[in-house]
Parts: sequence; structure tokens; C-alpha cells
Amino acid sequence: MMRIEVDYDSCESNALCAAAAPEVFELDDDDQLAVLQPKPPLALCGAVEEAARSCPKRAITLVEDPA
Ligand code: SF4
Repeated sequence: MMRIEVDYDSCESNALCAAAAPEVFELDDDDQLAVLQPKPPLALCGAVEEAARSCPKRAITLVEDPA
């Protein structure tokens, strides 16, 4: 299973990750990034990997989570 970690100090809330994986990432009303599914199902992993690649700040880290 995959777990998503976000470096909120680096994130500049440009929503590129949300464009790549809208089921997982969105900006809240304060323009703060929200991770809707920190442990996304396998079916979304491709989109999440694309989101991580699309982040210009390299703020998204994908961690193997055995649980
Ligand atoms: S793409 Fe990166 S910088 Fe942009 S909102 Fe997502 S995590 Fe933040």
C-alpha cells in the first residue's frame, strides 16, 4: 500500500497535483492543499504518481506502507 506525505512548507498551492489526481488532492477554501485519501487505493496509484511527478516543488513523497 502507498502512503502520501506532503511537505506543506514547500507546497505553493498551485493545484497541479489536484489536476492530475482530483480524487486524492484538492485545495480547501483557504487554498491549503488537502489530501483526501492519504492511503489511496491501488486503482488511483497511477494518478497519484503522476501528481507527484507534476509537482514543481517536489512536495509530494510516496512511501511504501505495509499496513
Ligand atoms: S502540485 Fe505540489 S506545490 Fe502544487 S499544490 Fe500540489 S503539492 Fe502543492
